[in-house]
Amino acid sequence: MTRQETLYDLIVLGGGPAGLTAAIYASRSRMSVLVIEHMLSGGQIATSDIVENYPGFPEGINGLEFGQLLEEQARKFGTEMALTTIERVSLQGDVKEVHTTEGTFRGKTLLIATGTRSRPLDVPGEKELKGKGVSYCVTCDGSFYHDKEVVVVGGGDSALEEALVMTKFASKVYLVHRREELRGIGILQDRVKANPKIELILNTVVTKINGTDGVESVTLHDKVQNKTWDLAVEGIFLYVGLLPNTEFLGDELPQSKHGYLLTNEDMETSVPGVYAAGDLREKSLRQVVTAVSDGAIAAVNAAHYLDELKEREANKSE
Ligand code: NAP
Repeated sequence: MTRQETLYDLIVLGGGPAGLTAAIYASRSRMSVLVIEHMLSGGQIATSDIVENYPGFPEGINGLEFGQLLEEQARKFGTEMALTTIERVSLQGDVKEVHTTEGTFRGKTLLIATGTRSRPLDVPGEKELKGKGVSYCVTCDGSFYHDKEVVVVGGGDSALEEALVMTKFASKVYLVHRREELRGIGILQDRVKANPKIELILNTVVTKINGTDGVESVTLHDKVQNKTWDLAVEGIFLYVGLLPNTEFLGDELPQSKHGYLLTNEDMETSVPGVYAAGDLREKSLRQVVTAVSDGAIAAVNAAHYLDELKEREANKSE
């Protein structure tokens, strides 16, 4: 039977920590599982140089390696993987359908774990110079900036972590944040402030990214001093938050006002048999450790749902 002909017990959308943990749990409980991913296993964490706060790795672990290990573990228990792009889903009824560029896949239960992507800054020059000095990934592009000066934008954990990684390459990193206070956790703030290669530019926003074939400078505006100036840099790395990857769902499931999926604590959405886990869920803490927890809870509840379905079928036929 081909994958398109198989009716899976669980289809997982997204091969990040939430999706792959669900796959590990579900496969170990002898459910047939297909994970659909359009890029690399690991999701956002695969672009992280080092994961320092996942328990059990005192020296930290590289994000890409972590994603690969999760996939290896899921495959070991029988999870199948499909590399394709999700176009839309049909959630109503006992069989859930996932329409992709490789055809339609069908599952008795469905877990949505497609995570988030970087939020754009939406300033002039950003789109035009994307890939030519404008980047959203230090791990991917940082090494192009050996001995060069760059700007990192944002004050959250991502901006602080990536500014620190950037100092391995760049001669100078300007960390531009729109408020006086940084948002990221204390240990990262301490490291950033102690790093001689990082200069903090606070209360300041980027209003324009300038350059022809590549970034030449960024226009900054200090909101307190009401001062505008151009800062010469060759790269700008944007870490101004996240957007949930939920477009393919249309209006099928309730979302928060920022587009995150609403679930109960069992990871159930409003549609029976459909679960959501990880960063795209409305919640207070978006971390690998909460993503894997969501995934495990979703898988266990999907298994309970299948047992109930079986019981219902058995009662019908009696
Ligand atoms: P975030 O926590 O939402 O921070 C986004 C930052 O960008 C904030 O400082 C925000 O400023 C700023 N910002 C937003 N819109 C802006 C705009 N239009 N112009 C200028 N600045 C803007 O996003 P994140 O840092 O990507 O983190 C996302 C989640 O992942 C968080 O839950 C974070 O804890 C987690 N994370 C954890 C780790 C870790 O544990 N090691 C690493 C990375 C990420 P304000 O502060 O003024 O709102």
